Parts: sequence; C-alpha cells; structure tokens
Amino acid sequence: MNPHDHPGYVGTRALMIALFGPSGTPPAWRSDAVCAGEDTELFFTSDTTAQALAVCSGCPVIAQCRADHFEWENRTRSRRFYASGVVGGTTGSERNQTYYPRTTTRKEVA
Ligand code: SF4
Repeated sequence: MNPHDHPGYVGTRALMIALFGPSGTPPAWRSDAVCAGEDTELFFTSDTTAQALAVCSGCPVIAQCRADHFEWENRTRSRRFYASGVVGGTTGSERNQTYYPRTTTRKEVA
C-alpha cells in the first residue's frame, strides 16, 4: 500500500506541517536533544519544572530548540497566550511574559 493512500495520511501530514512548518519534518537538531526518550510529563507538570529545566540546561541544542519553539509558538495568539510546559530552558510563564510584557508601574489609587 502506498503510504499516501493510507486514510490517516492527510491528517498526519497536516499535523506535521502545523508542527514543523512547510517541510513537515522535524529539524535535524532534534536528534541531539537530551530530552529524546524522556517522559514528556516531566516537561508539562508543575511539580517537575525544576527537574525539566535541569535537563534543558545540559542540552547541546538548547539555542536551536528555544528559537524554533518561540517561532512556532509566536505564530498564533492562542499558542502565545497559553504558552505552557518547559521548552528550550524556559517555562510557559516566562515565554508568556516575553510575548506579553507586563509593566511594573502601578497606578496610584486616590
Ligand atoms: S532544550 Fe530542553 S526541550 Fe529543548 S531539546 Fe533540549 S532538553 Fe529538549
């Protein structure tokens, strides 16, 4: 059977393009990712944020990972607004703060 004839091919291809852009394939740097094989829960559970950040801190592709993820997350408002999980050595709230900087100035209350 031609893989392009598989009923799930169009959906899978659309998902891959949404995740990885027009090429639809993961970037080459991913083969050097320290998190490959790690339980993804580690990166999406608040109790293990410090542990996930420690994994990222020793990753040789942290710069590429961070740049690609920021680019991907920045494509849509919902991704920026609901940024979550540890990726590229950053937490979702840190990335959210980058997309939507908050001022520290407070208005005086009369
Ligand atoms: S920086 Fe972190 S999330 Fe990115 S590839 Fe490396 S270990 Fe994985």
